Amino acid sequence: MTNQKKPSRMQADVIAYCAKCKAEYCETELKNLDYNFQCPKDDQNGPHHLARVVKGPSGKFWLRIEKYLLAYEFSVTPKRWFKNWGGFFKGRAGRDLAIRFVILIVALNLASSLCDKVSIKLIFQNTIIIIIALFLMFDNLIVNTSIVFVSRFPANPLRSVLMTIFSFIQIIISYSIFYIIFPSVPMIVRHLPLEKLV
Ligand SMILES: [Zn+2]
Repeated sequence: MTNQKKPSRMQADVIAYCAKCKAEYCETELKNLDYNFQCPKDDQNGPHHLARVVKGPSGKFWLRIEKYLLAYEFSVTPKRWFKNWGGFFKGRAGRDLAIRFVILIVALNLASSLCDKVSIKLIFQNTIIIIIALFLMFDNLIVNTSIVFVSRFPANPLRSVLMTIFSFIQIIISYSIFYIIFPSVPMIVRHLPLEKLV
């Protein structure tokens, strides 16, 4: 009988870490892993630092990535612009999703109708549509990743599930736009009035 070692989990320090300050506070026990705590350097009335018990250097690295996702969700995504557009979107994620849906349907409709006549204007319009679809898809993925894995505290779990499903439908619409536009690219290049561009 061979003397085989039992497989064991990777050994690493379990530490209380703040991603904002990049500060390690103390080592702790494994049972405290993933516990959120308030950073001592944070504002006691309105905490903004992402501080958690993590495992090893990779735990610290991914907590810093989570910090950027959270910052994107709370500051960068379009619904946060102009102070939530004067409060119109504050706590109203449904409105944001509905408006995105309308924008994507209009873009899909425009993409469908712009594939016949080849011109510089067509290329310009399709490029704008692709940029909008790409941005909305990127934004959707980042915000939903942050909601599910970082901020984590939905007003209601069922509401969050429905909104996530609706967001995935929007990603499908974005792909539909790419599928409509990109097959037309070889046709556009073939018929491009290159002599007028020179
Ligand atoms: Zn901190």
